[in-house]
Amino acid sequence: MAAEALLEVKNLVKHFPITQGIIFSKKVGAVQAVDDVSFTVNKGETLGLVGESGCGKSTTGRVILRLIEATSGEVRFEGRNILTLNAKEMRELRKDMQIIFQDPYASLNPRMTVGDIIAEPLKIHGLAKGKERQKRVQELLEVVGLASYHARRYPHEFSGGQRQRIGIARALAVRPKLIICDEPVSALDVSIQAQVINLLQDLQKEFGLTYLFIAHDLSVVKHISDRVAVMYLGKIVELADKYELFDNAQHPYTQALLSAIPVPDPHYKRERTILQGDVPSPINPPSGCRFHTRCPKVMDICKVQVPESVEVSPNHWVACHLVRK
Ligand code: SF4
Repeated sequence: MAAEALLEVKNLVKHFPITQGIIFSKKVGAVQAVDDVSFTVNKGETLGLVGESGCGKSTTGRVILRLIEATSGEVRFEGRNILTLNAKEMRELRKDMQIIFQDPYASLNPRMTVGDIIAEPLKIHGLAKGKERQKRVQELLEVVGLASYHARRYPHEFSGGQRQRIGIARALAVRPKLIICDEPVSALDVSIQAQVINLLQDLQKEFGLTYLFIAHDLSVVKHISDRVAVMYLGKIVELADKYELFDNAQHPYTQALLSAIPVPDPHYKRERTILQGDVPSPINPPSGCRFHTRCPKVMDICKVQVPESVEVSPNHWVACHLVRK
């Protein structure tokens, strides 16, 4: 049976204008944070979106939810282009699309009890009142592995992993279809990361959730993702099924990211590709292939021509002049 798309992102662009002058400010450039990005997330799957900091992955997540407005492109949720919805239509849709933020310390209001934090989306969307709302909060706390009496406590009384569980309970409160997990484990200790990832997987099975899982580290998305998209400086450079990507990466950037993952076997020596320099500025990205200033396999054509994304094998897309259709 063919997979059914829940979210379709088509040619999405987000440029932040740079202006100069105080009274008559004029546009002098743009930060090209997201540039012509397309991908699909199917119902019930997890798509990992990976890249170094500043590659545009978190901006992509925020533009999909319209926390930031897109410059152009389409975001289709269940077939509807949500970038054209008015404020009321968007408010109704928000309960289907939730986000879990990277920093569980900053994303919870320190003046609210945990019970009020989790109840807030239920209140905003008019989903439960009084005793029923309280009961729902208690159920949600238990679902994420906390206790119902935690509802009376404040965020500062919890550890980082527990706070992320509170963030997950808040996102689940409105029974969403899609959750954008924006680096949900990056701020946590490695042992706690595994617990939160396992919890997200259990919840996905129980509630039929679909995830867009954003991370800067391929080893984090390996466990949870069905497919993985690799992003570099505002563009998707490779997208494939998880096993295909880990066993047969074709793009030099993906290969470099994979070579950086530590191998637990001391007898196995993997050749490591060290990328030179930092990610260039998205204000004035390199011409042609944006990776050409750091690519160990750069050719003359790479400096002048943008590589098209081609399907090298079924559902494996690569944007690099080294690959052919
Ligand atoms: Fe490297 Fe050229 Fe491929 Fe870009 S297009 S990744 S510079 S080989």
